Amino acid sequence: MIDPARFSDNVRPLWEMSSPCRLCPRRCGVERRAGEIGFCGIRAEPLVSSAGPHFGEESVLVGTGGSGTIFFAGCNLGCVFCQNYDISHLRTGRAVTVESLARMMLELQRIGCVNINFVTPTHVIAPIAAAIELAREQGLTVPTVYNTGGYDSVDTLRLLEGLIDIYMPDMKYADADIARELSDAPDYPQVNRNAVEEMQRQVGDLRTEHGVATRGLLVRHLVLPEQQAGSERIIDFLADETSPYTTINVMGQYRPCYQAGGHPKINRRPTRDEIATVRQYAQTRGLSVLD
Ligand code: SF4
Repeated sequence: MIDPARFSDNVRPLWEMSSPCRLCPRRCGVERRAGEIGFCGIRAEPLVSSAGPHFGEESVLVGTGGSGTIFFAGCNLGCVFCQNYDISHLRTGRAVTVESLARMMLELQRIGCVNINFVTPTHVIAPIAAAIELAREQGLTVPTVYNTGGYDSVDTLRLLEGLIDIYMPDMKYADADIARELSDAPDYPQVNRNAVEEMQRQVGDLRTEHGVATRGLLVRHLVLPEQQAGSERIIDFLADETSPYTTINVMGQYRPCYQAGGHPKINRRPTRDEIATVRQYAQTRGLSVLD
């Protein structure tokens, strides 16, 4: 086990915050280093379900070498429509140490990946942050991507300043009742807005070089049927309160998975019209909308 004392003033508090755990807004208070588990279902050591170059992400993250994607098992949200429920809820993956995580990043860089993309990092951010420091000491130079469901606490995010280059949060819902029903997180809308503002403060609008993202904020928004996501309110928030130049990916690939069948309003795909209306609204409000 690596000694947390060797890391920076930002990383050490993350270790302290992880046991008793208050890393994310759920603030479960469990002793993860003693083997207890909270809502996310993961003890102190992260579980990696897969790692490798990924070409299915937004083109600005892919470049020619792919996005060096590391998928973590477990999640601090309980989305009934989760498309990765075997990873997020069944928690399939292999335990990794800080050292092996750092080696994984360096290997992804070596084979040509244009960034290191941490998928669902919130609940395991302490070892990830330590591994980023270690990997940078050993030559990691490509940007780091924090690819999150967007249920992140500002206190934790502040400690990531300088460690994360690209923030890619979901903005899932604008309405508390819907967030409660679909993700077991009634405070999601406000928590998510605060998190996105902190991310924007740290890294600013998305910047690219030769078509590849180097730094900044890229928001993902999944259109749900029957306007369940509150898309226009989210877009208004970004345009009016975050930055009028925010880059957004309006995603139209929702399909009912996992337990979505038990929720009639989301038990179908969104129509082409529903998706086009949201995309058009984001363009009308001046956001930078990815194709
Ligand atoms: S990271 Fe996990 S254990 Fe910690 S507060 Fe969040 S859900 Fe609970």
